[in-house]
Amino acid sequence: MVCRLTFLILILVIIQSHAQKKVCFTIDDMPLVTYGINDTVYQKNLMNKLIAALNTNNIPAIGFVNEVKLYRNDQLIPFQVQLLKSWLAAGLHLGNHTYSHPDYNNLSPSEFFKEITKGEQVTKKLLAEHNIKLTYFRHPFLHVGNTKAKSDSLSQFLADHDYIAAPVTIDNEDYLFAVAYKRAQDKNDTMLIKKIGADYITYMERKVLYFERQSEALFGRQINQILLLHANALNSDYLDALAKMFRTHNYDFISLPQALQDNAYQTPITVYGKWGISWIDRWALSQGKKGDFFKGDPETPPYIAN
Ligand SMILES: [Zn+2]
Repeated sequence: MVCRLTFLILILVIIQSHAQKKVCFTIDDMPLVTYGINDTVYQKNLMNKLIAALNTNNIPAIGFVNEVKLYRNDQLIPFQVQLLKSWLAAGLHLGNHTYSHPDYNNLSPSEFFKEITKGEQVTKKLLAEHNIKLTYFRHPFLHVGNTKAKSDSLSQFLADHDYIAAPVTIDNEDYLFAVAYKRAQDKNDTMLIKKIGADYITYMERKVLYFERQSEALFGRQINQILLLHANALNSDYLDALAKMFRTHNYDFISLPQALQDNAYQTPITVYGKWGISWIDRWALSQGKKGDFFKGDPETPPYIAN
């Protein structure tokens, strides 16, 4: 009897340790972050590489659009719209990231709401062509409102307009790596380009492991994670390696609606600040966690950050 029980426990432990973890990839500042490169061949190539890496790895990603990037002198730029069309044609999803990426900490609610409405015009139509309703909203800088009143009024606006906010759990500084990567590309510094790419994957792996520990500490399990990335050259070159890293750590790739089915996302947030931080940190702060709880968050290497 004892023997059978031990066996059962052993089986349960094995199942537990092999349980697939889940992550949703979300990609901000669409169509692209190009640091001023207007070359359409460059941009098309960047977008194609992003899409190809997502498709070959079966990642049902969602991109969040800043529609300001679709216009020049108030005129729609067909090429930029086409980039979004190719994204949707590849079976990927889109959401609203406001028109021009303003900081909610510096705007009144009504000014910010105008940005949301202005930022949905084209994306809504493009999604409708695929019979998809525009549903998801991502806060620029992950700023949800630095007071309860501001946060509540934004939540109310989103609910009234049938939006669902898209939290982030695996927050990171991919954008700093991307700037360094672009600088290295400008200098044709092949060694540095490779070093930044390799260090980026190592850094992201540490971030994943850190937020796994935080998930375990807060929920006693691995919650569905939501990863934040940006639509830049670094990610177009390294998305495949990033996907491989996640698979090595036993991850399945899921869509945003699938990720949000995890009831962790119902955890109340009761503290507010100017911060743009992981939702895991917000939940932890709301539960009174302090100092030590947040220890070990991987730092961006100084040569990237400075
Ligand atoms: Zn953004």
